[in-house]
Amino acid sequence: MKKLVLVFVTLVFVLSTSFGPNAGSVYVCKGPKSKRYHYDKDCRGLSRCSTKVYKVSLEEARNMGRTLCGWED
Ligand SMILES: [Zn+2]
Repeated sequence: MKKLVLVFVTLVFVLSTSFGPNAGSVYVCKGPKSKRYHYDKDCRGLSRCSTKVYKVSLEEARNMGRTLCGWED
């Protein structure tokens, strides 16, 4: 059980630091069904994208209402 707690705490720490301002760039697809952003431009979630893949800041992606890709959470 302790190991799980440690993993959880580490995850929260990693997430909270990566969600800070100017945390870097993410990739979004601008297709009509796209609701996600991706850290990896070769993500399998982007392989189905029907438009160009755009590189935007994490803040921009979140302002667009995007949430982290299900393959990367
Ligand atoms: Zn993804």
